[in-house]
Amino acid sequence: ERLQLRPTGQLSNTRLFSSSGQSQLVEMDQEPDEKLRDRLAAESYKESGSDSGKWTRLQDDDKDKDKPSTVCGLSVGGFVLLLLLLLALAGLIALGSFSIVKWRSSAMLCSTDNCVLQSASMLRTVDRAVKPCEDFHGFACGNWDHAYPTQPGIGKYSNFYKDTRDNLLRLYSLLSHGYSNRLLIRGHRSKAAAKAVTYFEACSNTTAREALGQKSAESLISRLGGWSLTNDVPATRPPSSDPGDAGIIERIAKANALLAQPFFNVQPAVSDFNHRRRAIRINQGFAPYQRSALVTSDEKFHKAYMAYGEQVLKAIGSTVNNASRKRLEELWQLDVRLERLRNSYVERRKVAPKIADPSRFEMTLTDLCKHISDRLHHASVTPESLVSEAVRLSPQFLGVRIKPTTLMRVDNLEYLLGLAELFAPAMAAKSPASMLLSDYAVMTTLRSFVHALSDPFQEARRQEKQIIYGNNVLDNLWLYCTSKTDLAFKFLTGALVLQRTITTKTLAKVTSLVDHIHKELRLVVSEAPWMDKETRTRALAKVDRIKQTVGYPQIIMNAHKLDKFYDDIKIDKGDYFASYLNARATKHKWSINHLSSRQPHHRFEWGQSPLMANAFYSQTTLRMTIIAGILQPPFFDEHFQDAFLFGALGSIVGHELNHAFDARGRYYNATGCLQQWWSNATSMQYRSRRDCFVQQYSNYKAYGMNNRGAHTVEENMADNGGIYVAYRAFQKHQETASSDASLLPGLGYTPDQVFFMAFAQLWCGHVTKQFGRKLMETDVHSVYEHRVLGSLSNMPQFAKAFGCKPGSPFNPAKRCTLWT
Ligand SMILES: [Zn+2]
Repeated sequence: ERLQLRPTGQLSNTRLFSSSGQSQLVEMDQEPDEKLRDRLAAESYKESGSDSGKWTRLQDDDKDKDKPSTVCGLSVGGFVLLLLLLLALAGLIALGSFSIVKWRSSAMLCSTDNCVLQSASMLRTVDRAVKPCEDFHGFACGNWDHAYPTQPGIGKYSNFYKDTRDNLLRLYSLLSHGYSNRLLIRGHRSKAAAKAVTYFEACSNTTAREALGQKSAESLISRLGGWSLTNDVPATRPPSSDPGDAGIIERIAKANALLAQPFFNVQPAVSDFNHRRRAIRINQGFAPYQRSALVTSDEKFHKAYMAYGEQVLKAIGSTVNNASRKRLEELWQLDVRLERLRNSYVERRKVAPKIADPSRFEMTLTDLCKHISDRLHHASVTPESLVSEAVRLSPQFLGVRIKPTTLMRVDNLEYLLGLAELFAPAMAAKSPASMLLSDYAVMTTLRSFVHALSDPFQEARRQEKQIIYGNNVLDNLWLYCTSKTDLAFKFLTGALVLQRTITTKTLAKVTSLVDHIHKELRLVVSEAPWMDKETRTRALAKVDRIKQTVGYPQIIMNAHKLDKFYDDIKIDKGDYFASYLNARATKHKWSINHLSSRQPHHRFEWGQSPLMANAFYSQTTLRMTIIAGILQPPFFDEHFQDAFLFGALGSIVGHELNHAFDARGRYYNATGCLQQWWSNATSMQYRSRRDCFVQQYSNYKAYGMNNRGAHTVEENMADNGGIYVAYRAFQKHQETASSDASLLPGLGYTPDQVFFMAFAQLWCGHVTKQFGRKLMETDVHSVYEHRVLGSLSNMPQFAKAFGCKPGSPFNPAKRCTLWT
């Protein structure tokens, strides 16, 4: 059974307009959006590439059973029918200006439960005071913040956030109510589920956490080899933990094993140019704040950093004096210095420079050492020792021996060279430079664990947040503990929730939708007038190699296998911090194990929690993943009409698939390797189309700023290509299946209008002004208003569907398009 709205009795007027009960709960989470996103991003630190997505295909004769019936509501009762007709009439009057009269006269009114629910779900956020042709986003979403009130401390409250949160709420009710019969996996008892409940309970036991107090932090510090900032605290100084004793590289290894990643992270990988060639990838490490704050050494952030550091010291029981303040100041300076060496996210994603000069991004160990020795003038250290020290961590987890010929994948050579300069004088134990870097490694690790510590540590987070954001609202305990349990047991927690909400029929319906869109993309590519023959042949080969994974890895529904998988996690029910530490260390082991596994595609390569509402496309594995968590409104509902399904999830599928041909994706060939595989003439054509989007979006304004069209172009092209392909697939599907093209009660829309409306409503949400400015500055996606404006104004079919006058914002004279 799905947990979505299901009418249980007689419908009434109030019922019709109060959909989505889940989001109306009074108890609201207060986790800031960024936190949730970080958590979700942390989940996906590796690309998915499994072959686990084998789903039962929908049988053709099953398809029709899913479609809502158009038989008018005899079963619902006369009163409701009358009410629905009245509502429909009201809708028709309100929408009188649209040119849909002709269509309407021949359409039947659908008054099944599902049609009523779809109408209610869509009408809920509409603001009729806004003219669709002037501001379609405002029209479709104007009532969103009233329908789904934002919670304190959240910068961006979106459908993606809300649906993920709703899934966590479902998980919470399973974990917290002590019903063991709800904790079965497909009817079987699960040891792993019992473990997850214990973990959740340990997390929720704040009394135990407070009783442990600073001891938890002390154990972490001593595990990392001590911290000069807490040397006056006796407990943190066991005999062997003098900060100078352990080499700096060894400390970093310990921090990296806990996924804290100060300075850099090392992971096994394959070459970007040849997937059969194994490599070791060295990437830049963790930064405490956003780039702009560190690069400019922003005063507000500096103040927050110092306040945070001082409070952490107090919480541990250390004295804050001039010496410790001086050291905190030095750590801040180091963070600033490291950030200035780092590349921005956008810079890191660029692939054209890699194609132009691969030797700066992939090189043998010998060549990397040569780069370093050209830079270093430090007599006491050889580049070989420095690098092999740094990657020595990697073989100790991998069982791979580093040879001079080992391929190193270096995302940012300048960063590594800068790091080498920093590390060279620190290689001698107990040198001042070594002490500073060691302290930094501890500080970075503490920062990523502080949320799991007692209240005085939470106070550090509150003070920091207050200074930076002007509010100090931290996550609610239920949400915090539920998401941490999900993070530690994602396959199990996914199974617990999804076995109740997602059926094989649901998955089959999604797979069928994906197939429609995938096929249409193939056709679109084969028709693109600007592609020459050779490029087109290669492009089609690429389209054919795109794989899909829908839902979750099948294996998660097997209680026995889950028990085995989670066998390693040790949970101490009286000590959440120790359990959390253990879960993180185990997770690291898994990721390393699977990455070094002899099988290139381990079955557990799925990186995200299945409860997350999102979808992905991987450029290197050519795999699109639709995560089960997204299979709920406004993205999907198997009982809603086809116009909705194609407009909502269909355009998301289209978006992900079009990433294969966005300004970056086009450089990846049919095997997912970087290559210049387009002819010059076709590249030129592509570029002029891309430039059109860059210019168009650059003219859009929000939060007093201009959209940075070059920065957002990949996502904009995916949006535009996505809805175009989904629309075409929908048109074709309609020709073959007209049975659910009936009129929705109260909505009175043509199927085309429902399609566009479903698309626009994906991008409803609430964003604070402050957060909006941050998004305009950093996000590679355009803000929601622009996503709707850009994609729909480029489609003449939209202007036609809503009767927009030429020259109105949604019917402009000049349009951009990739495929036509
Ligand atoms: Zn995207």
